[in-house]
Amino acid sequence: MTDLIDRLGKLSDARGISGDETAVRQALRPMLEDHVDELRVDAVGNLIARKAGPPNSQGRILVTAHMDEVGLMVTGHTGDGALRVETVGGIPSKVLPGLTVLVGKNATPGVIGLQAIHRADRKMSGRAPAIDKLAVDIGATSREEAEREAPVGTSIVFATRFANLGHSCKGKAFDDRVGCAALVELLRGEPFPFELYGVFTVQEEVGLRGAQVAAYTVKPDLGIALEGTLADDLPKGDLDVSPITELGKGPAITVMDRSYTTPAYLLSHFIQTAEIETLPHQIKQPGIGGTDAGGIHRTRAGVPAITVAVPCRYIHSPVSVLREDDLRGLVALVDAAVRRLTPDILRR
Ligand SMILES: [Zn+2]
Repeated sequence: MTDLIDRLGKLSDARGISGDETAVRQALRPMLEDHVDELRVDAVGNLIARKAGPPNSQGRILVTAHMDEVGLMVTGHTGDGALRVETVGGIPSKVLPGLTVLVGKNATPGVIGLQAIHRADRKMSGRAPAIDKLAVDIGATSREEAEREAPVGTSIVFATRFANLGHSCKGKAFDDRVGCAALVELLRGEPFPFELYGVFTVQEEVGLRGAQVAAYTVKPDLGIALEGTLADDLPKGDLDVSPITELGKGPAITVMDRSYTTPAYLLSHFIQTAEIETLPHQIKQPGIGGTDAGGIHRTRAGVPAITVAVPCRYIHSPVSVLREDDLRGLVALVDAAVRRLTPDILRR
């Protein structure tokens, strides 16, 4: 396993739903410490790394990747010791029954139960149970024991472990630990011709919150959000539907999503960079999703921004799959695009 994939594995296995990103921050620190000029945590929990540019460098670039993942939070307890839960970020409840999960700081194992098929109401079988009909079983035998072990507000993550899968790998939280792994790689590389802030943001999945704060602090001339985005490239029976992005075709550049539309000059800078440097790339099908770029561009008097992402299958589910070459391709494309920026492009 290369260092890049090894770090992706560590970050994917770290546990951090929106608002509870401490473990991810702790995993990131040692990967960055010897490679950046400044490393600090702001008031909302963003991890901010600064890489100085040459003296008198003109321009400041902000590159973000969000630390938080979708998961569950304890909202109550039943008389027999099970945990009531709510989703944090977008998770369809149909993927939850039968899963193993890790609960709280001690990573207490739990399962999301589903009534055995022998007892299930025939009319309901095959339908997704609503989240308020599901409970997490940690083996507690009373409400008091469940409250002690997992009080209201406790975080719950999927128990999926990272592993290689042929040319791909599987794990939880590739949205957006793959962006975090790519940003670490960029920050560990040679200094850029501009001052570069790499910010590992909080609470993206619940409203692009950390990125807005980070962009206000950093005052960048340009923002780049690194993401894991949905691939949706598997056969769909007879349906003639274009994929959002495809595994193995390189990093996906966003033209427009629900949070933001990329300025044309910025889009052509990234596409031209890919063409000149013969780097694989693809355009994400417009109109779907939202990223930190949507938060960054609204700060202060406005910041031009772009999103580049690694295609991931089964995103926002307990397990995602990505192609390792797409991650390497993302690092190569963003690295080249930043190095090819000119003060003219930044100042337009
Ligand atoms: Zn994301």
